[in-house]
Amino acid sequence: MIDSNLRSLNEEEMAHVVKEMKAQRFRAKQLFEWVHGKNVTEFAEMSNLGKNFLADLSKNYDLGHNKIIKRQVSADGTEKYLLELSDGEAVECVLMRYRGDFSKKRNTICVSSQVGCAMGCTFCATGQSGFVRNLSAGEIVGQIYEVNHLLATEGAESIGNVVFMGMGEPFLNWDNVYKAIKLLNDKNGQNIGIRRISLSTCGIAEGIRKLADSGLDITLAVSLHAATDSERSKIMPINERIPLGELMAACSYYQKKAKKRITFEYALMAGKNDSAGNIMELKNLLKELDCHVNIIPVNPVADTKSIFRPEKKAVSDFAKALKKAGINCSVREEKGLDIDGACGQLRGKIAKKGLF
Ligand code: SF4
Repeated sequence: MIDSNLRSLNEEEMAHVVKEMKAQRFRAKQLFEWVHGKNVTEFAEMSNLGKNFLADLSKNYDLGHNKIIKRQVSADGTEKYLLELSDGEAVECVLMRYRGDFSKKRNTICVSSQVGCAMGCTFCATGQSGFVRNLSAGEIVGQIYEVNHLLATEGAESIGNVVFMGMGEPFLNWDNVYKAIKLLNDKNGQNIGIRRISLSTCGIAEGIRKLADSGLDITLAVSLHAATDSERSKIMPINERIPLGELMAACSYYQKKAKKRITFEYALMAGKNDSAGNIMELKNLLKELDCHVNIIPVNPVADTKSIFRPEKKAVSDFAKALKKAGINCSVREEKGLDIDGACGQLRGKIAKKGLF
């Protein structure tokens, strides 16, 4: 069944809608450009579609009703948005205003793929609140469209990079995530370069293999955080079901097929995974792969009293030692610490106050 949210539809599906309405095929292309290229939020904005056509269209279709209900701006320019969905649920996305080489602006958005998450990672606020439901493709791209719409009204640069690293495990909602990526990459839509899209998984081996087989040239990141099964299982329950051996086999498969470097995320937690022994374990685990380790000093999560952020010096010492051990790595720039930057924190806070 076709989703009533037009943001979920590709041009082929819009052509089907248009045909049902007995309108001409070229209307589908126009509709696609308005919805996915120009991010309209009201039917009336689609000025060349004709009043009768729009009136007919609005009987069965809508523009998703994603609404920004909260915006937090960090001292470093990072912005966090809480979006309300049509059923009253809410998801977060985070806009990071980086400046890359030659001071070229490079706005990156971190989007959610599910409401809540079933994976239960101990260091993650979303993981503590449980799974609610998958997002549709329209609700995924809607996060980018709503923020872009807002940026346009403020005369700011639009979004150039998309990272699937917000709430939810993208491979457990793969069909909708795949569709959203295709929509974002469409030249008549946002036209975001495929290599400017990244996806982060907590280690769903089957999903990694599917991505390899799909031929999508996006960047793959794997949340690793520990290099032995016993330690990883303590912080990431998924490791009980998909242990490191299985995960690494899927990563090798991906690398052979996609011929791309893999990023491994390593949330550095004081006293938990930051020892010299941990560095040797990482070296052993990753030695066969072309990879990069992204060290992320963990954000404090109020509900998890056993996880502590490491000191700056401990972070740089860890990175130095890892490089010395022959592992390519960098420390991720810290963003939005003062605005509950970690995934799920804003939604959790607002839900506790009973605001949705
Ligand atoms: S870190 Fe990602 S996979 Fe783990 S619980 Fe949080 S949202 Fe889910």
